[in-house]
Amino acid sequence: MSKAAGRDLEAELNDGRGSPVGLAVDAVCTGCKQTRAKRIIGGEPDDPPTSVQHVCHQCQQETWWNVRRVLRGYYQ
Ligand SMILES: [Zn+2]
Repeated sequence: MSKAAGRDLEAELNDGRGSPVGLAVDAVCTGCKQTRAKRIIGGEPDDPPTSVQHVCHQCQQETWWNVRRVLRGYYQ
């Protein structure tokens, strides 16, 4: 079963909460465990960071996110 099923990755990336540019990844919040597509600054598609600090609107604070995979079709 794909975790991306039923999700609109484009909408998640462009919801205005994250960076408009950067490497697109699927990441899991270590606080609330939600999976979310995000753009991160400074990542390389072949060598993405394993975790990044990012604001989580659900946790309402900056949390650590574990990077699951690179969303290659969205790379800028
Ligand atoms: Zn969270």
